[in-house]
Order: sequence, then C-alpha cells, then structure tokens
Amino acid sequence: MIAPQTSPPIGSLKGVGPSAVRTLNELGIRTVADLFNYFPYRYDNYEIKDPQFAENGVSLTVSGRVQSEPVLTFYAKRRSRVVVRMMAGRSLITVVAFNRPYLKKSLSPGKEVTATGKWDRNRAELTATEFHVGRQDFTETMAPVYSVKDGMTVQRLRTMVRRAFEQFPDQITETLPRSFVEKYRLPERKTAIHEIHFPTGPESLKQARRRLVYEEFLNYELKMQSHRQIRQKSEKGLSIHIHMQKVHQFVAQLPFALTQAQRRVVGEILEDLQAPYPMNRLLQGDVGSGKTVVAAIALYAAVSAGYQGALMAPTEILAEQHANSLQKLFHPFSVTVALLTGNVHGKERQLLLQELAAGHVDILVGTHALIQDDVHFAGLGLVITDEQHRFGVNQRKKLRIKGKEPGVLYMTATPIPRTLAITVFGDMDVSTIDELPGGRKTIRTYWIRHDMSGRLIAFIRKQLKEGRQAYVVCPLIAESEQLDVQNAIDVHASLVRALPGFQVGLMHGKLAPDEKAAIMDEFKANKIQVLVSTTVVEVGVDVPNATLMIIDDAERFGLSQLHQLRGRVGRGSYQSYCILISDARSETSQERLRLMTETSDGFKLSTFDLKLRGPGDFFGRKQSGLPEFKLADMVHDYKTLAAARDDAAGMVKSPAFWKDDVYRQLRRPLIDSGITDSANLD
Ligand code: ADP
Ligand code: MG
Repeated sequence: MIAPQTSPPIGSLKGVGPSAVRTLNELGIRTVADLFNYFPYRYDNYEIKDPQFAENGVSLTVSGRVQSEPVLTFYAKRRSRVVVRMMAGRSLITVVAFNRPYLKKSLSPGKEVTATGKWDRNRAELTATEFHVGRQDFTETMAPVYSVKDGMTVQRLRTMVRRAFEQFPDQITETLPRSFVEKYRLPERKTAIHEIHFPTGPESLKQARRRLVYEEFLNYELKMQSHRQIRQKSEKGLSIHIHMQKVHQFVAQLPFALTQAQRRVVGEILEDLQAPYPMNRLLQGDVGSGKTVVAAIALYAAVSAGYQGALMAPTEILAEQHANSLQKLFHPFSVTVALLTGNVHGKERQLLLQELAAGHVDILVGTHALIQDDVHFAGLGLVITDEQHRFGVNQRKKLRIKGKEPGVLYMTATPIPRTLAITVFGDMDVSTIDELPGGRKTIRTYWIRHDMSGRLIAFIRKQLKEGRQAYVVCPLIAESEQLDVQNAIDVHASLVRALPGFQVGLMHGKLAPDEKAAIMDEFKANKIQVLVSTTVVEVGVDVPNATLMIIDDAERFGLSQLHQLRGRVGRGSYQSYCILISDARSETSQERLRLMTETSDGFKLSTFDLKLRGPGDFFGRKQSGLPEFKLADMVHDYKTLAAARDDAAGMVKSPAFWKDDVYRQLRRPLIDSGITDSANLD
C-alpha cells in the first residue's frame, strides 16, 4: 500500500531554519509539497547582455566593473537605496538597489559585479532586483521567479526548491490515472513539476504547463460537477408532467417556425422541467435570437400542466414589454398574464395578489416587485429571470423560494464566452441559442468622427423620410447623473433644431416610470421618430420600424454593451444601420470600434471583450465570484477547461471514481471539502 499522503513539514528541508519556516508559512508554504506547488510566475533570462542593445523596460542582466563609490541613502522607515555607477559592455550605467544597505560595503570601485533588473534606457539606469559580486556563476535563460516577501529572496527560494527535489524525490506522485496521461500525452506529474521550476526548454515547459493546467482545471471541475450531480440526484425538485401535445399545438400556431437552435434549447428545458431535480439553467442567446419565444413555450408547458410561472425583468419597460408579448402569444389560449411592477399600488395590487394566491393568475411578469414578501403563488412551477446578471444572487433566490423548488431559467443576451460560462456558471446547465432567425439582414455598422455629423444628419433625415425611426444613445459621462442628463438634453435640443418636421423625444433616468413608459409608447406608435436617450433603451425594447442606432462617444461603452444597443435595430425587414460616433485615439478603443464594424457575432465580441478586460471586469464589479487559478488562464486555456469539464462530469458519474485507488488523489480534495460519493445517492 502507498503511504498516506502527508508531506513532510517544510522545516525538515535541509538549510531551512525556524525563521525561514515562518516566512515560508506566510507565503502559504507549510510542507514540502506546498513548496513543489509554489510555481514561478515568470522566468528570467540571465544571459549577460550589452545594455547598448537592450530595449527600454526589459529585464536585463549586465556584468562589468564598479566605477564609483556607492552612495547609500536611507529614507522612510528602514528603507534604503544604494546607487552605483558601473561599466557594462561599452556603456557607463547607473545601478540602483533598494533595501540592501550591505551592498555599500561590497561594491568598491574596480570590483566585478553582475546585476539583473529592469532597464530604463532613457536614464541609462538599471533597477537591480539581483546583485552578485564577482562573476555570475549561472547564465540560465529561464530562471524561475517566485513571488516573495521581506525575509525571503528569489535566489534563496530557488535553492530550496532545488534541494527539495534532491532530498525528497519521491514526494511528487502521480495524481491522474494512466489512461488520462496517455489520452492527452501529458508529461508525468513529477517531470512537469520539475520542468515548471527549472525549464529545460520552451517546448518542454509548454508541455509541463499543459499538464498542470489540465490538473488544476480537473480538480476544479470535479468539485463543480459533483455539486451538480448531487443537485440532480436530490429529487427535491418538481417533476412537472408536461402535456407534450398541448406544447406542440402552441408551437404550431406561432407565426414562424422555430429555428433549430430554439428547438434544441426548448427540448433541454422541457427535459429539465420533467425531471425530478430542480432545473438550474442558463439560457443565453444573442439579441434577437428569439429567447422570448423560448421562455413563452417553457411557461406554457408549466401552465398547461397546472402550475404558475413567473418572469422577472430588470426594468419596468422591459417587464411591460414582456407582459405585452406574452399576452399576445397566449391570446388564443386561456392563459392569464398579469403585470406587477412598482407602479401597481393599493387596491389594484391587493386584488392582483389575491388572484395570484388563488391560482387565477397563470403567469406573473414584473420587476423585483415580484420578490416582495407579500407576493404568494398558489403553485409556482417555473421562474424565469431575464438578464440574470443584473440581479443579485439573493434576489434570484428570493424568487425561487416562493415556490416549492420550482425550475429556474436564467436568460441573458450578453453572450458569455464559453470559457466563462462553464466556470462562473459551472454548476449550472447552459443552453445556447447560437443561430438567428433566418431572413434577417445584417446591420451595417459604421464608425464616424464627430466632424462628420453634418453628413450624419442628412442620413438620419433620409431614413426618417422613408418612414423609419432612429435611436440616439448618449453615454454616461460624468460621475454626476445631472451632467449626463444635461448632455442628453443638449443632444436632444440640437437634433430638434436639425430635424424640423420630425418629432424628437428625450428619455433619461431622471424621468418618472410612467413618463418613460409614455415616451416609449409614443416611439412604438411612431408619434416620435427620433428617441434620444441615455442607456435606458439598452435592454429588450422591440420596435421593428427603428432602423438607425446612433451611439455618441461610442468608445465609452463596452463591446458587449455596444452590441446590445445595436441589437435594438434590425428587428424588422428593413435594412438597419448602427453608427458609432467616436474621436477615440487610443489603440484599444480603435480596435474595439473597428471590430464592431467588422462582426455582428456577439460571441466573438464578448470573447474579445473578455480578453481585453479580463474575467474580473467582464460582468462588472459585483458579479465576479470567479475562481482563481494558479497557472491556468480561463481565456487562453478554455479548450483544456472544456476537456476537463467533460472528463470531470464523466468521472463523478462513475462508481469507480468513488472507489478505485487510481482516483484516490483526485478524490481527496472532494472528500476533504465534505463532498461524499454522489453516486451513492442512487
Ligand atoms: P431576444 O429576446 O433573444 O433578443 P426576441 O425573442 O425578442 O429575441 O426575438 C426577436 C424577434 O424575432 C421577435 O420579434 C420575435 O418575434 C422574432 N422571432 C423569434 N423567433 C423567431 C423565429 N424562429 N423565426 C422568425 N422570427 C422569430
Ligand atoms: Mg428579449
């Protein structure tokens, strides 16, 4: 039998005394295994170079003789700086070293030294992170750099890792079953870990990294997938007995045929509703991909089986619009749809709640007014939330507990890159509508500068004369909402002047809800031809006659947001246009705007956005909850992540995983965190 997996404490490593132990502990290194798993975050090249040929800002190693008496300065508390001049190659340079006062003694003029650090070409100055008196005894091109803190140096850590490999060669054992190592042609764990610390070459480092990234993802996914498995086996959810014939009838009378993607996701949702576990599904699809109809079908399936449904939207305008669309879609059927927003008060509200509790309302649509304490359902079977990432986790949960474990479907029009979807929503099932209904024309997108606004006005006028309508979106600019509103007011005023004979409306966040709704109604009825607004039109509004989306200072919006806004047009049969106005000069802004003009693929845009902004910023500050990986990068390594996810899903389902010895090491973290054999729940 293999000995139990307890790694020797770090203090048992030769040359590591009590004070080093303390510092290492602070870095999270308690055992020898922890040290092996303390990976470098980059590699330095110690090849000695002539600074004359080095670019500004690079990491550089130079060698040469000291030319001046070192100057030591103390500043702040226990902070110091040594400055010395040295001849490196044919250049006389300044070398600065921080917090190493002892260098003052060893750097006398004429001494040979080697220094590594960041090169400031303009000042001919090297900020040394490493200093060796004498000639350097190593010239590695890929020396590991670890994150360290006071009391520990990179060099010392390097020595310790080297020593650990000598002293404890058998501490690194294989965690993956042979079959997986072979399937992906991964290096053995021991090889990989040695290589990640002391690479022998770029290719073998790449292989080592590949192996460790896979392992990191696999461990993460094993957790997610076992949670998911446990939920699916819990049998606590409603098992709705769906009348398939009724659902088919409903689908058959729609004014259009479902796209293949719509049909697929409807299938996935209905299967969840029928299953004994509670549905926990994310439905994502680009703007205009037809999520509303899918939601309606799911709601109809629940209602025709005797349950109630709820649909929660982030804004009143959107809630109203959903209620209207559902009422239209359900018109031929005896399905009651009611709307509950903050605008519904007093008696009207009282009555509505009574009807709801009595089961006379089949579908309740609304804003977060739906989650108030006095809202009771008779038998809530399905909860749908639109634009799910706008609601906090708690709000979603509150709605959910209004039923007895109803199915929950989250809809979002922000296409979430696959890589993020499977991590952020790792314990959710994801359905994707990846196809737009046919016959739709691509929206032509142009990027213009402010000095072209004369031609833009002419273009707007032409569209309006043809009977079409336009949106003009002004960004949030200042910290103060007042200023933003003022900006929209100014744009509105200038358009009123420029477009005589047409009605130009103005909408912004400072208006009361009923004022907003009134303006929106006028726009829908084409009593207003141009709607100037701050970003309130962002979600959901459906006005097929609008063909022009003009976005001012477009560089101030995220790519996904621009794409969302663009999705407001192109909803009818007319050719539509999106005009981005921007004088942006920065390269990334220009690249983003150019990408907007080149692609209408929301997934492509959001993936790009993710690469640009990083996962943390993708959803904005609050939503993150993103896992942190040591080596793995969710964006770049997403194929590996997808593979790990599939493998993990397969593993947790198989009884062998929970029993066999080859899985012991993979199983351990799960058991440690209290996850037990989910296969045993059968
Ligand atoms: P989303 O909510 O995904 O942005 P919607 O559900 O609002 O999209 O659909 C956009 C428009 O496309 C609506 O007018 C809808 O009636 C229409 N639509 C939906 N599905 C189809 C389809 N399969 N064929 C044709 N039109 C469709
Ligand atoms: Mg929609």
